[in-house]
Amino acid sequence: MAFVEMKDVYKRYRTGEVVTAASDGINFTIEKGEFAIIVGPSGAGKTTVLNILGGMDTADEGQVLVDGNDIVQYTPKQLIGYRRHDIGFVFQFYNLVQNLTALENVELAAQICHDPIPAAEALEAVGLGHRLDNFPAQLSGGQKQRVAIIRSLAMNPDVILFDEPTSALDPEMVGEVLSVMKELAEAGMTMVVVTHEMGFAREVANRVMFINEGTIAEEGTPEEVFGAPKSLSLIHI
Ligand code: ADP
Repeated sequence: MAFVEMKDVYKRYRTGEVVTAASDGINFTIEKGEFAIIVGPSGAGKTTVLNILGGMDTADEGQVLVDGNDIVQYTPKQLIGYRRHDIGFVFQFYNLVQNLTALENVELAAQICHDPIPAAEALEAVGLGHRLDNFPAQLSGGQKQRVAIIRSLAMNPDVILFDEPTSALDPEMVGEVLSVMKELAEAGMTMVVVTHEMGFAREVANRVMFINEGTIAEEGTPEEVFGAPKSLSLIHI
């Protein structure tokens, strides 16, 4: 059985009379240790899929199996446990606690999980050993995102989900964040990443999923999806 499996997942948002099928029958599997990239145009449903997989939003229909457990059936309390112990999440805008230092941000997260990775060592490993006592406002965007990645890693999750982790960064800081993600992938971490960094996706991903209008329009290795895309729209992302 695959480590992660989404089966016929539907999510509709209602705004007054308007119903948006953000997820319109999503199916995919991800194996342990895979680096899966989700691409697609704005509004396609990428964040919706990631939030459902991360237990931050709930599916209306379908199954989301993680290590054999269907998280769609989880109670709110079980979902809290799932977010604490099983899943890491890295957001576009870092979501660090502003009045805690880099080290304290990581330690705070590590405190609520069972089997944390030592915070200072993990920060040192990504070149932030000299920034442990800095507050987020004293760090660059790239440094903040590296702290956020280490915060999720320190909780020792089974999977880390990234939602456009480099899109808020100045171009010169993108590389330092991508290289930390590449190291994690090479170390065997299971990762699901929504990104527009196509060069990075080609180089590092095992699997690319192209979402369009709430469904998986294409899926395969980077060579298959970028080399000979079946849907012309992929070329225009
Ligand atoms: P993407 O991440 O690919 O840009 P999203 O998953 O954020 O797409 O959104 C998919 C669709 O669902 C979009 O049309 C968006 O406007 C809509 N949507 C997302 N979240 C909500 C919400 N909370 N309420 C209403 N509509 C939403």
